[in-house]
Amino acid sequence: MTAPGLRPIPRKLLELTGALRRVNRACSTFQTVAEVLRLPKRQMTKLAFPLQELQRHLTPDARLDLHVKIFDPSLEDISKAESVFTATGRNRIEYLSSAVRLDHAPDLAHPEVCFIGRSNVGKSSLIKALFALAPEVEVRVSKKPGHTKKMNFFKVGKYFTLVDMPGYGYRAPEDFVDMVETYLKERRNLMRTFLLVDSVVGIQKTDSIAIGMCEEFSLPYVMVLTKIDKSSKGHLLKQVLQIQKFVDSETQGCFPQLFPVSSVTYSGIHLLRCFIADITGNLKTDGFGQLELNT
Ligand code: GDP
Repeated sequence: MTAPGLRPIPRKLLELTGALRRVNRACSTFQTVAEVLRLPKRQMTKLAFPLQELQRHLTPDARLDLHVKIFDPSLEDISKAESVFTATGRNRIEYLSSAVRLDHAPDLAHPEVCFIGRSNVGKSSLIKALFALAPEVEVRVSKKPGHTKKMNFFKVGKYFTLVDMPGYGYRAPEDFVDMVETYLKERRNLMRTFLLVDSVVGIQKTDSIAIGMCEEFSLPYVMVLTKIDKSSKGHLLKQVLQIQKFVDSETQGCFPQLFPVSSVTYSGIHLLRCFIADITGNLKTDGFGQLELNT
C-alpha cells in the first residue's frame, strides 16, 4: 500500500530493486570465515574447500587424480590467516604504486606474490575478493585498448606485497614480454606466481605463453581456476580433471594442487588467503609449514 500523497512505485522498479538487493546480498556474504562457519556442513565445505566438494562426485579411483590434501589447513588455520587480510589500524593494506618497468617497481624487502592471467580471466575480481576485508583498497583496472598496462603493487601490512600484473592476450604480447618477463625473471623477493585460468574454458593458447614462461624460469607457481560458479558441476569437473592432468604431466614448477575460486560466491577465497599467508611465512601452524610447501 502507498502512503497518502505518494505516487505508487512502478512494479518494474520494485522488481529491479529486488534483483539489485539479491545481487548485493550474493556479493556481500561469506567474505569472512565466521560467515562460512555458520553454514550447514555441506555448504561450508563447498565454500571453504571447493576441490574436496568436487572430488566427492568422482569414483574412488578417479578421486586420486585430484590432489586435495597437499595443502589441507584446518578451519582454525584458515581463520587465523584471515587476520593477515583484514585491514586494521595496525595492519594497513593499501595500494602502493604502479610501474611499467621493473626498475620503477618499489624496492621492498617483504616477500612478494604476483597474479597473472589473460585479460578477462577474472584477475581484478579475484584480487578484490581477496581484499574484501580491506574495503579501502582500490583495485585499479585499466582495460581500454591502447592504455598503458601497468604492474600494480599492494602492501599487505608488514606481511607481504601483492602484485597485480597486466592482463595478457593476443593484442598485448610485447607489453607482456617486456614487462612481465623481466619481472618474473628478475624480481628477487618473488615467492610465488599465481597463474589464473578461466575454469569455464580451460587452458587457452595465451595461457600456455605464461605457463611456458614460468617453466622456463623455473618459477614456483600455482594454478588458480576462476569463475567456478559459472559452470555446471559436470562441466567444471571435466575441466578441473583436464587441467590437473596437464599440471601432472606437463609441468615441473606448478604446485600440484589446483585452487578453484569464485569471486562471486567467495568459494575458495578463504583457502587461497590461507595459502598465501602460509607461503609468505605468515601462518605458523603445526600441520604444514612454509618449507614443506616451497617446492
Ligand atoms: P580481468 O580482466 O582478468 O581483471 O577480469 P575481471 O575481474 O574484470 O572479470 C572479467 C569478467 O568476468 C567481469 O565481467 C567479471 O564480472 C566476471 N567475473 C570475474 N570473476 C568472476 C567469477 O568468479 N564469477 C563470475 N560469474 N563472473 C566473474
